[in-house]
Amino acid sequence: MGIEAQFQKVEEKLYQNRYLVDAGQPHIKIAPHEKPSKNLLAMTHLCPAGCYTEAESGQVEIAADGCLECGTCRVLCEETGEITWNYPRGGYGILFKFG
Ligand code: SF4
Repeated sequence: MGIEAQFQKVEEKLYQNRYLVDAGQPHIKIAPHEKPSKNLLAMTHLCPAGCYTEAESGQVEIAADGCLECGTCRVLCEETGEITWNYPRGGYGILFKFG
């Protein structure tokens, strides 16, 4: 087996996970803002699950479905009050599959 066949790309690995959406109860919320800070804007590139997007208005939006709970946005944006971050309720959120 060639080395390429042994290793999958990150995107292929992410598809192995399962995510249970807690409808109407997002575990991450962005505070209303006119213009995002550098950190919040950076999340549109840093979030490994692609949860953050920049709207045409220039504001940053989040769709927390698929969040890997890596904590990157929590470290960069929670202390400044730009986001509120909680773990999903029990039974909801990411279910990692290994192998
Ligand atoms: Fe993205 Fe990680 Fe923040 Fe979840 S915790 S929204 S995966 S940066």
